Amino acid sequence: MGKRHPIFTDEHDMLRHSLRSFIEKEVAPHAEEWEKQGGFPHREVFKRFGELGFLGVDIPEQYGGSNAGFVATIVLAEEMARCNSSGVAASLGLHSNIALPYIAHLGTDEQKEKYLVPGVKGEIIGALGVTEPGAGSDVGSMRTYAVKDGDSYVINGSKMFITNGGIADFVILAAKTDREKGHQGITQFLVDTKTPGFTVSRDLDKLGWRACNTAELAFEDVRVPKSAILGEEESGFYNIMIHFQEERLYMAVGAVCEAQRALDLAIEYSKERVQFGRAIAKFQVTRHKIADMATEIEAARQIVYNTIRLYVEQEPCQVEVAMCKLFACEMAARVINQALQIFGGYGYMMEYPIQRLWRDSRIGPIGGGTSEIQREIIGRLLLQ
Ligand SMILES: Cc1cc2nc3c(=O)[nH]c(=O)nc-3n(C[C@H](O)[C@H](O)[C@H](O)COP(=O)(O)OP(=O)(O)OC[C@H]3O[C@@H](n4cnc5c(N)ncnc54)[C@H](O)[C@@H]3O)c2cc1C
Repeated sequence: MGKRHPIFTDEHDMLRHSLRSFIEKEVAPHAEEWEKQGGFPHREVFKRFGELGFLGVDIPEQYGGSNAGFVATIVLAEEMARCNSSGVAASLGLHSNIALPYIAHLGTDEQKEKYLVPGVKGEIIGALGVTEPGAGSDVGSMRTYAVKDGDSYVINGSKMFITNGGIADFVILAAKTDREKGHQGITQFLVDTKTPGFTVSRDLDKLGWRACNTAELAFEDVRVPKSAILGEEESGFYNIMIHFQEERLYMAVGAVCEAQRALDLAIEYSKERVQFGRAIAKFQVTRHKIADMATEIEAARQIVYNTIRLYVEQEPCQVEVAMCKLFACEMAARVINQALQIFGGYGYMMEYPIQRLWRDSRIGPIGGGTSEIQREIIGRLLLQ
């Protein structure tokens, strides 16, 4: 609201401006159709984003990125939220803001050449495989195993709810390399999806994020070389937790943007819709609802921006990140529910975009660590 927040600079404004005009012209007009189809022309869209340099805003220049820093990726996340399809935003965001940074931070030179360079160009698509059918919040209980065999590893197991899983060229896969060590025995591998033994078991049908592919994956005697290990052996759990920080901030940013969009739609509608001889915006109940929604959004926005500032300044902020994820995602679900209420019966109709925001926002308190897990993190750290 109002003045630009101090985390943003003129360079960020320029990036925002070019992203906004591109998204308004080339992405948003197709969102409705892609949501209905349950998919989008991912190869074409990823390449276009790559061509324009939007997939590597925080990737070093030597790998084709623009090295513009973490806040630039927040600008990308905010502008993507305006594309009218949280599914498309999730697919691209998972690749550019989650999968590629893993490789930039942890990859060897060889891995960076192989995945980061074409990944930034949008020529290949990444996925992150952590969750399993039997291991969600309890990451350490995963049962995908990678057994050492000479100079390679043989992987068996399955992964669940994997964003981009059915369209990806590579998966950053978490597997146990030591069964006895629990979460400390997890190693991450870069697995090409063309490797024999990899299959997409099924594409999942979802309540929201309809344009985004989410799949269950199977690994049956998938053999990868030792050089496919990402980062240190058995440092997987630690790396996942570190990268969760950024994922949770992106989810919080996305939630604020979705809630803002819902509020904007509700304000517009409430001024037009006439009942009992006056616009429903004239009822004090509606005005107060709108005031509460706007206040909640602003509170979430400020805690999110403040935490981003702490994060980029490398201040300890694990508690604050969990608070952002918890508060912003639950706030968005509440606010969007109220926005839908303002639309009355029209809010329940598929032809009005508010229903999509309502469906899409439901993932917020679930994905990237549930609200309950965020409360556990906050409570545990405060009670230490
Ligand atoms: C659309 C979508 C996309 C996703 N994308 C990816 C992806 O790309 N990669 C990936 O690896 N994963 C992905 N996930 C998985 C997501 O991270 C998990 O769904 C999430 O971590 C929760 O795991 P779960 O679904 O198994 O639920 P569970 O862990 O089984 O939880 C079920 C319920 O129990 C509660 N619960 C569990 N443990 C505790 C506890 N200790 N204390 C209190 N309550 C608890 C939970 O909060 C929840 O309410 C995605 C999920 C969805 C829905």
